[in-house]
Amino acid sequence: MARARALQCPFCENYLRAPIDINFKDLSFTGGICTCRAVYVLDESGRAMGEIFLDALAFVCKGDIDRSLQLDPDEYETVELDYDSHANTIGRRGSPAKISKLLFVRLKEPDKKKT
Ligand SMILES: [Zn+2]
Repeated sequence: MARARALQCPFCENYLRAPIDINFKDLSFTGGICTCRAVYVLDESGRAMGEIFLDALAFVCKGDIDRSLQLDPDEYETVELDYDSHANTIGRRGSPAKISKLLFVRLKEPDKKKT
């Protein structure tokens, strides 16, 4: 059974701080960025993953929404985690209605520009 544990990056296992409000270029969301260049975006309700997903893709492209929409699915990796925003822990299985989601996205190739 999954136990609650401190928020960690699923790609590099770095410990991460709680998501914060971010306003970056045209983006506005709650999330953060890891030292391995992965980004994470909070879906507080756990029910807006489609929207969150687009925010995360745009953020991982440094706010370049046009580029984010052109990404192939094999250009990035995603991980979705259950998140307890009060305790800043992940993995706890609680009431689904109270569980937020964190979506992590990382580009596989660092800034490989297509021309
Ligand atoms: Zn990381």
